[in-house]
Amino acid sequence: MNLKGQTTLPKPAPRQVDPQVLAHEIVERLTYRIGKNATAAKPHDWLHAVILAIRDRVIDAWIASTEKTYEQQGRRVYYLSLEFLIGRLMRDAASNMEMLDDMQAALSSLGVDIDIIAALEPDAALGNGGLGRLAACFMESMATVDVPAYGYGIRYVNGMFRQEISDGWQVELPETWLTHGNPWEFERREASYEIGFGGRVDPSENEDASQHQMRWRPAERVIATPYDTPIAGWRGKRVNTLRLWEAQPIDPILLDRFNAGDHLGALTESNRAEALTRVLYPADSSPAGQELRLRQEYFFSSASLQDIVRRHIQYFGDIRTLPDKAAIQLNDTHPAVAVAELMRILLDNHGVDFDEAWDITRRTFSYTNHTLLPEALESWPVPLFERLLPRHMQIVYAVNSRLLGEARRSGQFDDRAIGAISLIDEGGERRVRMGNLAFAGSHSVNGVSALHTELMKETVFADFHRLYPARINNKTNGVTFRRWLMQCNHGLFELVREAIGDRFMDDPEALRELDRFADDSAFQEKFLAVKRANKVALADLLRQRVNARIDPSALFDIQIKRIHEYKRQLLNIIEAVSLYDQIRSHPEKDWVPRVKLFGGKAAPSYHNAKLIIKLAGDVARAVNHDPAVQGLLKVQFVPNYNVSLAEMMIPAADLSEQISTAGMEASGTGNMKFAVNGALTIGTLDGANVEMRDHVGEENIVIFGLTAAQVNERRAHGYDPREVIGQSRELGQALDAIASGVFSPDDPGRYRDLVQGIYDHDWFMVAADFDSYSAAQRRVDGIWHDQALWASKAIHNVARMGWFSSDRTIREYATDIWKVPV
Ligand SMILES: *Cc1c(COP(=O)(O)O)cnc(C)c1O
Repeated sequence: MNLKGQTTLPKPAPRQVDPQVLAHEIVERLTYRIGKNATAAKPHDWLHAVILAIRDRVIDAWIASTEKTYEQQGRRVYYLSLEFLIGRLMRDAASNMEMLDDMQAALSSLGVDIDIIAALEPDAALGNGGLGRLAACFMESMATVDVPAYGYGIRYVNGMFRQEISDGWQVELPETWLTHGNPWEFERREASYEIGFGGRVDPSENEDASQHQMRWRPAERVIATPYDTPIAGWRGKRVNTLRLWEAQPIDPILLDRFNAGDHLGALTESNRAEALTRVLYPADSSPAGQELRLRQEYFFSSASLQDIVRRHIQYFGDIRTLPDKAAIQLNDTHPAVAVAELMRILLDNHGVDFDEAWDITRRTFSYTNHTLLPEALESWPVPLFERLLPRHMQIVYAVNSRLLGEARRSGQFDDRAIGAISLIDEGGERRVRMGNLAFAGSHSVNGVSALHTELMKETVFADFHRLYPARINNKTNGVTFRRWLMQCNHGLFELVREAIGDRFMDDPEALRELDRFADDSAFQEKFLAVKRANKVALADLLRQRVNARIDPSALFDIQIKRIHEYKRQLLNIIEAVSLYDQIRSHPEKDWVPRVKLFGGKAAPSYHNAKLIIKLAGDVARAVNHDPAVQGLLKVQFVPNYNVSLAEMMIPAADLSEQISTAGMEASGTGNMKFAVNGALTIGTLDGANVEMRDHVGEENIVIFGLTAAQVNERRAHGYDPREVIGQSRELGQALDAIASGVFSPDDPGRYRDLVQGIYDHDWFMVAADFDSYSAAQRRVDGIWHDQALWASKAIHNVARMGWFSSDRTIREYATDIWKVPV
């Protein structure tokens, strides 16, 4: 019904998609929305006009999806994530709305190059790495497989920092992705909520309130205002909403204070509110201890929960049916405080009794664990938590006493195990354990690869797993093939279509039909030609960006991911040093020309990670200027790794480096993107590499190094890196060269401590895996010498990676956890 009480309203006529209509619409948008004619329009204006034309189609499908969701009255999925690493949206939306070719034709009829304006769109970089990119792939796949879903997160004004390299060192600069406005988002002021912090808790004034009903009187309040971005699934089947919250001061109060002459106070408060959503914590698998981070977590969890509950009450009336209508997925522990927030809403706002509230909560939430690294398991000091969230602290205590009572009564837990299950870490400074809160408050807890899930049962959640043996399950990660094959690798996409038809576009597992072309020499030739074209394009980009000259006929060996010691960029660099040494000592051998490319950001406070970036640059300088290895070895660090750079580098890779210490990478998703783009993987049996080996076949992947079990065993039996180094001449020489300043003559001691760490403890088993890694690299050389064999293996990789589509992952979540039909 509309405002006049009419029930039938005119709907917009269906839009045509053809180049002429589109060209007309673009010019129309340029004129009336941007206020320029074609002569005055700058490239950014064209981009804006194009996005507006695409957006109209997306909106039609968005509204239709919303109407369908309301009619179906089924369960909706809410994906809560502090990070969404989206990248650019223009090509993605146009391609999913099946208008990319027509758009390209329309633009060329207007004399505009789509590639040039596409490159102007800023990356929405609201995430650090894999966890945030997974959330973005999931949003696209949920729309594709027709799951009614909302993503909830924070609209950071500055997303992930922009990385520049100055004199070899990482420099962090703010990423100003909103400078030219964001045509994809819609501000929804009418759906704002108040978020409280601090203050005190009083007993409820309600006469017949239960013993658990309280009234929280926060001392501080901010407003959460949502911005909605439509996310279109493949073929525009469904368009879901990504709702990102922005913090604003409570206006009327501020205005009063401002008018009363307290200008400074009013401004401070306004700045405080806005600071909440200004920055994304640039931390990778390490807790940001700052109070601001906890405030961000509560801010977006509370806003999202209030929104979900408001919507539920509006459509279904009864809060008790929430679990039948809502499935809330927690992407890691960052939104875990939502468990306590829902309890608070149920107890204090809806008067639900404690047991029922806990039952509703557990049936509503599910939690995805992303890391086993002990230093990355989030916890907050009790005094901080209590000061910021006094009511939630009470709820955590109440839940804990119930949880530990249940564990004690089961009779299978000693004091140590009870201590491990507790929501409060009592060892030393008391802390609230967010992983335990998320586990206790969910009906499902999943890992992100088969290996990681098994390790979760044996390590962090071993005692929880005994108490609730049915709760832990696995959902191996995936990536969206629309972005990571069809859009980023147009050449391969067209070649595959030509060979096996279009079915794989709707069913990635149909890529399997490519298997029969793996040994077809004509197909191999075309396949290698596509790879070569992608390498030429990357070489051009690197010439423009970093003035590097790289030869597209060399083997492109690429490691791009966050810089972290467990991911072992250092192992790769040490091997490069050793290879450099071997080539110089044995110039007569038949060396494979290699270009080693590195990219990735280091957390600003992570000293060793930043030093590893500097080392890559130092080694590059020495190697690239040495005529003795010219044409055989090149090393290059590529600055500012982000989604758009990944889209250029991955299609150009011959070799994908996935070499983390076994047991430490929960899944990895970069590994999947490379393989589906026809790179061979050199990797350890870690994370999803294990399942990739099972799918592509062990003859089509190069595996080396200790297994997770062997890593444990070595550590348990007193691993001695010195002994290992003593037995490997190549390793010893490479380490000595680095430690003694061969690559850093300007500061010979620069890497002394870094190398000393390998001698002293080698937490990440670099020395233990070195020889095995180096031998694996020579096996890679052997395969490369036989280009037909290489092509065959690479084609098998493309053919057999279909299972790693995030559509498959989302179907598993939908069926096993959310119980929504797909
Ligand atoms: C896929 C992706 C990642 C994750 O890479 P891993 O190798 O799995 O760590 C990180 N950053 C970006 C930009 C990505 O596209």
